[in-house]
Amino acid sequence: METILEFSAFSLDAAILQQVTELGYGRPTPIQAQGIPPVLQGRDLLGIAKTGSGKTAAFALPIIERLNQRPETVSSRGTRSLILSPTRELAGQIEQSFKNYGQGLNLKSAVVYGGVGKQPQIDALELGLDILVATPGRLLDLYQRGHIDFSNLEFFVLDEADMMLDMGFLNDVKKVIDLLPDEKQTLLFSATMPEAIEKLSENLLIDPIRVEVDSSSTVVESIEQKIYTLEKCNKPYLLNSLLENPEFRSVLLFCKTKFGADRIIEGLERTPIACAAIHSGKTQAVREQALKSFKEGKIRVLVATDIAARGIDIDNVSHVINFNLPEDPKSYIHRIGRTGRAGKSGIAISFCVESEVALLKSIGKLTKQFFSVDSEQPFHKEISFSFRASMKNKKKKKASKKRR
Ligand code: ADP
Ligand code: MG
Repeated sequence: METILEFSAFSLDAAILQQVTELGYGRPTPIQAQGIPPVLQGRDLLGIAKTGSGKTAAFALPIIERLNQRPETVSSRGTRSLILSPTRELAGQIEQSFKNYGQGLNLKSAVVYGGVGKQPQIDALELGLDILVATPGRLLDLYQRGHIDFSNLEFFVLDEADMMLDMGFLNDVKKVIDLLPDEKQTLLFSATMPEAIEKLSENLLIDPIRVEVDSSSTVVESIEQKIYTLEKCNKPYLLNSLLENPEFRSVLLFCKTKFGADRIIEGLERTPIACAAIHSGKTQAVREQALKSFKEGKIRVLVATDIAARGIDIDNVSHVINFNLPEDPKSYIHRIGRTGRAGKSGIAISFCVESEVALLKSIGKLTKQFFSVDSEQPFHKEISFSFRASMKNKKKKKASKKRR
């Protein structure tokens, strides 16, 4: 397929192109280059590309263009497009992106999600919208109370479909889909394609164009990856010593559980380092405030769990630190993809204790890379990377199979 190298080569309104330029976008990313033309032509699309690859603009730009080509007054409670997003933070970011790209055009947008009061959302829906961004639960709630009418719907986007599945929202998503009119243009975006999402897409999309860019098992080249092996009890000390270096300007730190996150915060609060945590135990307001302060550079360390951080667009992260290695090797790619974005270089550091070596090995297998351990740190501990023990087990299994 011929790929478009300049935004100006898309048939987009001059006002949209100007916003894209003002946002500092140089060239379309691969998912945008391949996804925008078929969406402009009215085709259904299945877009598969990893976090940070610019999927939002891949659907927002052509939808804005098409809405703007045929301006329409939408009746109260109606909306011309619906974007489903798994989390409040992402939904908010998507609506903001629509606002940014569509500045100067006369399009009405709103976002609805749980955890905040309904009335302002109901008021926004009353106006009739061009763009509605929503999380599934609150959308269903507002629909059931009669505040939404889908009969004018022209565009439906299911964003971050794999994350919907991971978070247990697939049933709600299906309920929403059942409410929508048959005739519409549908776009589905996902970082990975688990079986359940593949199935859903087959039912949902009509004769879609499938655009799949750089498989989710590749790590952006501009990210420098370091492995620090150490004793478990030394993790907080190593963290403190790393943070003495001012080059660790804005650090996204991942850990396994919300309790772990809180413990790290307790430790950091004894130092002058400004920090905050985002996880499922925090209220919406607290999470949003933490994210905002982090983006504004007011806090240096943001501690997060995988679910709280996935998909969130945080620019300018200087370092990602894996305080714990993720159980799912794909999470490793998602996590470290938060640094080294849009061509910038970034550093990803993973703490690894003896019991995590197997996790590191499965990450290496997925990303097809060998990790070398960095011993230039004060708490370095030699850890054996030999896998003789597990090899022995395998042989035993084989032997027992033969005997049977
Ligand atoms: P995804 O949904 O694939 O995870 P996003 O749509 O959130 O990715 O985009 C990630 C970041 O890249 C955002 O900050 C966005 O503004 C930026 N971005 C998107 N497209 C481009 C582009 N063509 N050039 C530069 N930056 C871009
Ligand atoms: Mg996204």
